[in-house]
Amino acid sequence: MVLFMVRATVLCVGDEVLRGEIVNTNASDMARALVTAGTTIVRQSVVGDDVDAIVAEVNRARDGSDILVVSGGLGPTHDDITIDAVASALSRPVAVDPQVEKWVEESYRSRGKGEITDVRLRMARVPEGGVPVRNAVGVAPAIRIESGTLVVYLLPGVPSELRHFLGELFPPVGSSDEVVEERVLLTPDESIVAEPIYAIVQSTGAKIGIYPGKGEVRVRIRGKRSIVDAALSAMTIEGLIPSG
Ligand code: ATP
Ligand code: MG
Repeated sequence: MVLFMVRATVLCVGDEVLRGEIVNTNASDMARALVTAGTTIVRQSVVGDDVDAIVAEVNRARDGSDILVVSGGLGPTHDDITIDAVASALSRPVAVDPQVEKWVEESYRSRGKGEITDVRLRMARVPEGGVPVRNAVGVAPAIRIESGTLVVYLLPGVPSELRHFLGELFPPVGSSDEVVEERVLLTPDESIVAEPIYAIVQSTGAKIGIYPGKGEVRVRIRGKRSIVDAALSAMTIEGLIPSG
């Protein structure tokens, strides 16, 4: 087994937080969730609603972090600029994602708050290559974007929504009867492994995290012993990992 440590940077975006008008509970919620999920926090930052400042933090995270977890600024108002800033730092165009547009529309409709408007549609914008994750307790989705060796997670600033996503995206490791196994994939090309791994997640129920690194892709497989073993054999059969 190849042991590795995921290095995480936590970034909170918002003028209110920067100026101390609200207590930055998101930073501690994020850091604690990431630590219990098995990562090492290497940096915490707070910046205002400022594109250049966010771009600088994304660039800084490229060096020394495997994941950058950002909260705040995903909403529909003019000061919600996180998506555009991160997209610009990663040189990705931003476009409305039709799937997210449906989610946003449904969440307003189900709350009896009417139809989608141009302002609301802002929450359906996703940087190219970003994977949106539906928001079960609010509207703006979380977005996961891979860029080279860095994985960026964009999460809402509203603390209850943030905590919901932290639990979903970074569940605690090592609790109860869960086991974790880590492997390096035989192919470093994520675009080739994505589909078979997703099929294995579906068929076994294992939770599999994919962590691209320098020249290699590592996976972390989590679940009950029998489930993890089933996932490991399926991955061996698919030629994703070496046998034994
Ligand atoms: P919204 O859709 O509400 O605009 P958002 O993702 O754009 O959500 P923000 O606008 O940055 O997030 O923040 C929404 C609210 O969440 C803020 O008004 C504040 O009350 C709270 N909040 C934001 N950041 C933090 C933080 N770091 N710590 C604690 N509370 C925060
Ligand atoms: Mg906002």
